[in-house]
Amino acid sequence: MVSTQLPGIRDERVLEVMSRVPRHRFVDPALWPQAYSDYSLPIGAGQTISQPYMVALMTESLRLSGGEKILEIGTGSGYQTAILAEFSARIFSIEREPSLAQRAREILSELGYENVVIMVGDGSKGWRQFSPYDRILVTASAPEVPYSLVEQLSDNGLLVIPVGERDHQVLKVIEKKGREVVADDICGCSFVPLIGEEGWPG
Ligand code: SAH
Repeated sequence: MVSTQLPGIRDERVLEVMSRVPRHRFVDPALWPQAYSDYSLPIGAGQTISQPYMVALMTESLRLSGGEKILEIGTGSGYQTAILAEFSARIFSIEREPSLAQRAREILSELGYENVVIMVGDGSKGWRQFSPYDRILVTASAPEVPYSLVEQLSDNGLLVIPVGERDHQVLKVIEKKGREVVADDICGCSFVPLIGEEGWPG
């Protein structure tokens, strides 16, 4: 389990959930000895499972109270998806890489998460069918905030997304208040690229 010692993370519920979800199950057994260290690890297809601190920070930034409908872009290993599923009953997640989506479905089902739907596709355009979403979390970085994602946010909804250059970005929280959109910077970060129509070219 991830240690409850994640400096700077104040939300006790986030720390409690992270101490319970078995991160090792989302990586290859060869990496199990490293699964509870605070860094990202390879998950195949050139992608990585995010660093636990970043997972905690993103989850805390979503300010979840429990009833939110959440869209996640970049399922990857499914670890962040599991953390979100501990908070909310309705998780929609999109992954571009079919092999990762399949593995994430299998492990989430083995661990008993039944409130997650994963689609293979380009999440930079969101998932219009089930919109609007109270929260949208993007775990891959975009050159700009994808317009479709803001459009698919509900009123008073929050979008958390890394935005910037290909190798370095700023984690942003975007809040939709009626016609107004307010953006806040959380910290510098480095995520793999969001590849798609409203992300980076592949
Ligand atoms: N939260 C994941 C992070 C995975 S890395 C974890 O902790 O395991 C980001 C993921 O975004 C990668 O799996 C990558 O394949 C995926 N991705 C990149 N562009 C995408 C897009 N346009 N739509 C959906 N997923 C995308």
